[in-house]
Amino acid sequence: MGRKLFIAGNWKMNLSAAQCTALASDLAAGVQSDCPVEVAVCPPSVYLSAVHAALDGSVIRLGAQNVYCESSGAFTGQISPAMLLDIGCRYVIVGHSETRHTIEPHEDDALINRKLLAALAAGLNVILCIGETLDQREQGRTESVLDTQLTGGLANLQSASAQKITIAYEPVWAIGTGQTATTEQAQQAHAFVRTRLAALLDPTAANGIRIQYGGSVKPSNAADLLAQPDVDGALVGGASLKAKDFLEIIKASLQNAAQVSGTAG
Ligand code: PEP
Repeated sequence: MGRKLFIAGNWKMNLSAAQCTALASDLAAGVQSDCPVEVAVCPPSVYLSAVHAALDGSVIRLGAQNVYCESSGAFTGQISPAMLLDIGCRYVIVGHSETRHTIEPHEDDALINRKLLAALAAGLNVILCIGETLDQREQGRTESVLDTQLTGGLANLQSASAQKITIAYEPVWAIGTGQTATTEQAQQAHAFVRTRLAALLDPTAANGIRIQYGGSVKPSNAADLLAQPDVDGALVGGASLKAKDFLEIIKASLQNAAQVSGTAG
């Protein structure tokens, strides 16, 4: 079975309430109800409800940028998976490189795994981000880093839940830098991830998991990246903040969407 392409926008800590709803409305108007590509946006958590309302009637799905691993209780400042579901989220990102490397305290694979399992248990779909730093790539450690992050992040995952997982391969050196992985670098990493998924889960489950590329995806490079056989979509940061750019990336994906079939995760 083919994999339905999946384009998601990570708005990070950007935009005001008014800007978020305006962007969501512009995107809702630009994505047709029969769009063969799955589309999601991940606004700042305080604006999730406002964006959910602005997306009413649209096929665009709502995602959160992070989640906590407990279901309720004395966890000041945290948001549970059930709360995200309650306000209309279908997706949540876990393990983004900024939560692994930039925002303190840094998240490790064990915490990311707890978040992933808690989100799945509540019924959310999860985008698990993995990726190597520039130092790690230059030391020839890319595959071992991806392997460690996959093995740790997906620990105790049942194959039956695999359809609710998307992996986002995001080389850290390409995020927000304007420096994109080459199509060969992206395909090589994605093929490696697919092989490891088959070993960790089972080959059928692994073949159904979508692997997005993330790292300075823009209208000018999206088509080439998305044409790679193991690139099943994109996680887009900066270029998802402008409706025109994000819609152009979705449009670029349509030429590859015709080659695949299958259901959304
Ligand atoms: C991201 O935030 O996941 C990302 C890939 O950002 P950018 O597209 O800006 O590099």
